[in-house]
Amino acid sequence: MDSAPAPPGLRIAIPSKGRLAEDSLALLKRTGLRLGGYEERRLYANLGGKYSIIFARAEDIPIFVQDGVADAGITGYDLVMESSAKVEVALRLNFGKCRLIAAVPESSPIQSVADLRPGARVATAFPNLTGRFFSGSGKAVEVVPLSGATEIAPHIGIADLITDLVETGSTLKTNRLRPIETLLESSAVFIANRERLKGDGDPLPELIAAVESVMNASEKRYLMANVPRKALDEARALVPGVSGPTIMNIMGNDGMVAIHAVVGEAEVNGIITVLKRLGATGILILPIERMVV
Ligand code: AMP
Repeated sequence: MDSAPAPPGLRIAIPSKGRLAEDSLALLKRTGLRLGGYEERRLYANLGGKYSIIFARAEDIPIFVQDGVADAGITGYDLVMESSAKVEVALRLNFGKCRLIAAVPESSPIQSVADLRPGARVATAFPNLTGRFFSGSGKAVEVVPLSGATEIAPHIGIADLITDLVETGSTLKTNRLRPIETLLESSAVFIANRERLKGDGDPLPELIAAVESVMNASEKRYLMANVPRKALDEARALVPGVSGPTIMNIMGNDGMVAIHAVVGEAEVNGIITVLKRLGATGILILPIERMVV
């Protein structure tokens, strides 16, 4: 039987399903990788020979990248740390943010790790991270590995506490659990194969720089406005920009100047309100595709 041909070009592994799947694919699209023609659930998509995407389980991606099955990948930082894979964490991405916490039942007298009795049982889907954390804290605990649904473990007598990923903490509340410690802050990360990174003229550093520029731009907007010249100092203080706003004369209108600056997405509404009060006109807010800083 013929084996399937290896995916061509630079191979990027991304989660095929789960929490990180959609954002990972969207990030690669914004980086300019044309994904036309890829079909959901295919093992890989060939992006014109230069890149190919391998769709994999998020937890397998660190080892794929370590072993060179993929040259790069996007997965959770928690999964990289749990696997102990020897990969380069090239970029921390701004999605998939969560924390690995230790939690006890709400009714438990335990307030902190220091209160745990020797031999306390910790149920977790992250046995390696959890084991390392407790031995680092000098606490001899018994790690009970589970593949999921850890929240129930303390209520049915399997464990005294759990470690689990949380984002808002509402699942913990629903399951009447109280966090006592944060073991790890996690987010999606862009990881790279260490050997491949050393290669001369490799397209991998170029891809990392491109992904970084998309990330830098994603929470920024380009603001343009015409501001009364007499209010320029206030406007300048309001929109400091990356290296100061660009200020231009407007032909035939000595009373106004045009001001351009990069501003944080979260600040846009507040800035517009103040600019209007200063008498600004023609306020435009534009998306930025890439920002190379
Ligand atoms: P999946 O099980 O495929 O949905 O992926 C789980 C991965 O998504 C985790 O290992 C984390 O890296 C990431 N993640 C982000 N936010 C959360 C969350 N609130 N709970 C669990 N996993 C999360």
